[in-house]
Amino acid sequence: MKTVIIVGAGPAGLMAAIFAAQNFPAAKVVVLEQLTRPGARLLATGGGKCNITNVLPPEELARAFGRQWRFMLPALHALPPNELREWFQLRGVETSVTDGFHVFPTSEKANDILNALIAECNRLNIEIKTGITVRELLIDKNQICGVITDHGKLSAQRVIIASGGRSYPTLGGSGIGYQLARQAGHETIKTFPALAGLQTVESWPGACTGIAVANAQIIIDLPKHRRTPWRGELLFTHHGISGPPVINLSRFVSELLEKHQTVPLKINLDVKYDHEQWLQRFELWQRDNGTKMVKNLLSTMFPARLTEQLCILAETENITAARFPATTRRKLAELLTALPLNIKSTESWHKAMVTRGGVALNAINPNTLESQIISGLYFAGEVLDLDGPCGGYNLQWAFSSGALAAKKH
Ligand SMILES: Cc1cc2nc3c(=O)[nH]c(=O)nc-3n(C[C@H](O)[C@H](O)[C@H](O)COP(=O)(O)OP(=O)(O)OC[C@H]3O[C@@H](n4cnc5c(N)ncnc54)[C@H](O)[C@@H]3O)c2cc1C
Repeated sequence: MKTVIIVGAGPAGLMAAIFAAQNFPAAKVVVLEQLTRPGARLLATGGGKCNITNVLPPEELARAFGRQWRFMLPALHALPPNELREWFQLRGVETSVTDGFHVFPTSEKANDILNALIAECNRLNIEIKTGITVRELLIDKNQICGVITDHGKLSAQRVIIASGGRSYPTLGGSGIGYQLARQAGHETIKTFPALAGLQTVESWPGACTGIAVANAQIIIDLPKHRRTPWRGELLFTHHGISGPPVINLSRFVSELLEKHQTVPLKINLDVKYDHEQWLQRFELWQRDNGTKMVKNLLSTMFPARLTEQLCILAETENITAARFPATTRRKLAELLTALPLNIKSTESWHKAMVTRGGVALNAINPNTLESQIISGLYFAGEVLDLDGPCGGYNLQWAFSSGALAAKKH
């Protein structure tokens, strides 16, 4: 092994470079990055705090990625979450679990994670060349022999494609990794923006922009999906909804929008109360607070702008608790526990945190991440057809797959 080329200086590419330099000490390891600096997207993760992983063991972490989870196990065992934390600790970056689940650098600075990776690259004499875009692969008789960049040809005996997904083009999202894979004969699975806010058919959420509801529960109101609720803080936006549960369910909604013009959701605005409990509460309001307006009573539980919209939908804007008819009570209880919203689109690639779809796993060896079509060609990170929810899943996959793709075998 004389030269290892890595396409992309994100978390997958930098970790791959470090492991390659350790596993092939005589080889020259070169990382090619199209942007003017490495790790641009890494710096934006977790709102700049970088949620690098979580406390789940490899198997549970992998299951969150869906039906292809088993493919991930060899990589996650090559560099599991606890070893990733140790790896950074040994390089001076302490990590903490503040909420019992998410792992962040204790400093809450993504920069510390990136600096540790770059310092390790420097220590191992890895060359990180920025401002260079890989355009094509050089292949001879089903064997990789290098890459063609916008600055000329480079030869290599191993090429690791760690070019990420399509999202956040300003942070390096590009479709070139998929083109390179197709050139090598790999299939690619259609890509969708995932981990993004959702845009609703209804315009009223816009009137509630900025309002957050802490204990919401959301279901996709289609036969096969009703059983999986997403819980957490729901946020109203200019064009629809966002917040952790929405972002997580967007992975599925974007795919469903291929088959359905709109995707119906039902939202319980406060999981502590069901339909029956709301009806009981309305009775108490009628008994104890009959002269008060329903919307004022409700606004003791939800922000006023949201209450206003709910009362318009239930036609209770100008009704006192004493004159609250049974049909309207049922309507309001229904809106509070099964608020219907119809999704017409996810936010664009500019706002999606990850890409769903990508290079198909069928012709890649999960034990090595080597192509089964072109020897010496490897894939790591988000370029592959794997995407996880929010919560450190995607970065763990990027680091672990980078480590495995650079192993000797
Ligand atoms: C705003 C935001 C917040 C996020 N927060 C979290 C979080 O807290 N926790 C978490 O687990 N995940 C988070 N993610 C997801 C996570 O950032 C990605 O899953 C992860 O960065 C993927 O790593 P990667 O190395 O595969 O790809 P990337 O990080 O995208 O790196 C790929 C690199 O390849 C370069 N490149 C692409 N094409 C070429 C080419 N042809 N030639 C040369 N270079 C090329 C790109 O410029 C880029 O630098 C977040 C994403 C975003 C956008």
